Amino acid sequence: MTNGPVVLRTGLDAKGNAMATKLTEVLEAIARDAAVRDGLAFLERDAARTLDEQKALTQIPAPPFKEQARAAHFRDLLAAAGIADVHVDAEGNVIGVRRGSGGPTLLLSAHIDTVFPEGTDLTITEKDGRLCAPGIRDDSRGLAAVLSVARACTAVKAVTVGDVWFVGTVGEEGLGNLRGVRALFRDHPNIDGFISIDGGDMGRITLGATGSRRFRVSYQGPGGHSFGAFGLPSAVHAMGRAIAQIADLETPAEPKTTFNVGRVRGGTGATAIAEDAVMDIDVRSNSGAELQRIAAIVLDIVEQSARQENTRWNSDQLHIAVEEIGDRPAGAQSADLPIVRTAVAALAALGIEQIQYGASSTDCNIPISLGIPAIAIPGGGKSGGNHALTEWYDPRMSHLGPQAAFLTMLALAGVQQVSEPTLARRDKA
Ligand SMILES: [Zn+2]
Repeated sequence: MTNGPVVLRTGLDAKGNAMATKLTEVLEAIARDAAVRDGLAFLERDAARTLDEQKALTQIPAPPFKEQARAAHFRDLLAAAGIADVHVDAEGNVIGVRRGSGGPTLLLSAHIDTVFPEGTDLTITEKDGRLCAPGIRDDSRGLAAVLSVARACTAVKAVTVGDVWFVGTVGEEGLGNLRGVRALFRDHPNIDGFISIDGGDMGRITLGATGSRRFRVSYQGPGGHSFGAFGLPSAVHAMGRAIAQIADLETPAEPKTTFNVGRVRGGTGATAIAEDAVMDIDVRSNSGAELQRIAAIVLDIVEQSARQENTRWNSDQLHIAVEEIGDRPAGAQSADLPIVRTAVAALAALGIEQIQYGASSTDCNIPISLGIPAIAIPGGGKSGGNHALTEWYDPRMSHLGPQAAFLTMLALAGVQQVSEPTLARRDKA
């Protein structure tokens, strides 16, 4: 922790500079508080235990819709960290609460699920100080960081103005389609702010929500012998027509908008006109309007591909079915929002001045789309290979993650007799 001079960020208007200065002062006041200093020291001492818990959580499989075992372990650890009312909600989220004296409600969260299917080898290997295992960072690190912050709050008897909820969500990855965080915001309209500990290296703040829509398109045709029945429409040929057109789509670099046919299967062999074919398509954008535009084009291409294949063979026997398998809203937030500025000031208090703003698909998509301030911040350490079997995590200086989350949380929720919350209570009218 450094108590350096007040740093004014450049390129801000007078109002922005005033807010940055005020938040820097708030963070300095918090960081001077004896209990908070004890908390920061506690978090550094707690790093080894936090890493052990991160490893243990990684070893418990948590594929989409099968998070129960890891959720139960996280629930037990959260209760052991001294958090009250720890329970699992109807959707499968783990929730525990530290009550304040009447202020904003802030969630400090990480996701329980991983992208990896059942049966994935989760053995952790270690090389040159790096830990390697599927899911070792995403998001075991976030869960471990939430637990460490919870322990620090208990250890120093932190008294916040607002309520802080410590949360583990289900369904963040893939087909989970954000089901956990959707349930949270559906069932609790009183939430004022949301922090997800889920991200890469220190200094990155995710404040944009990359939206996505995912489709599974199934083609069904008559099938037949490739020679004897030649002249019938083919499910694979029709799908190929669609893929060729999708592959040629042009999308803007800004706001970043992408498309991908990620998985195909179909047919039975070289000598059979394919009776069926299925593909999974993902389109994403940092802009909601661009997302809907590109999704509509893709769906149109898919419809046309079936028509074209039928027309080619003067047939009506080829049919398609489109199933929407994912829909995550997009959204943008200003870097001037108090939740973002507070996180920046907390990082500065820890000596981290290099800030990188980003957009991605996280649990924050839901609150951002609802107009509720939300950021994703890293859990400390370095990492790479997310969503790959080669995912790795380097725990050097990892305590900075929980420390940044702790300071950001305290500033947002406010510390009794030290600082007012920087997070506003929303008008729930
Ligand atoms: Zn994640």
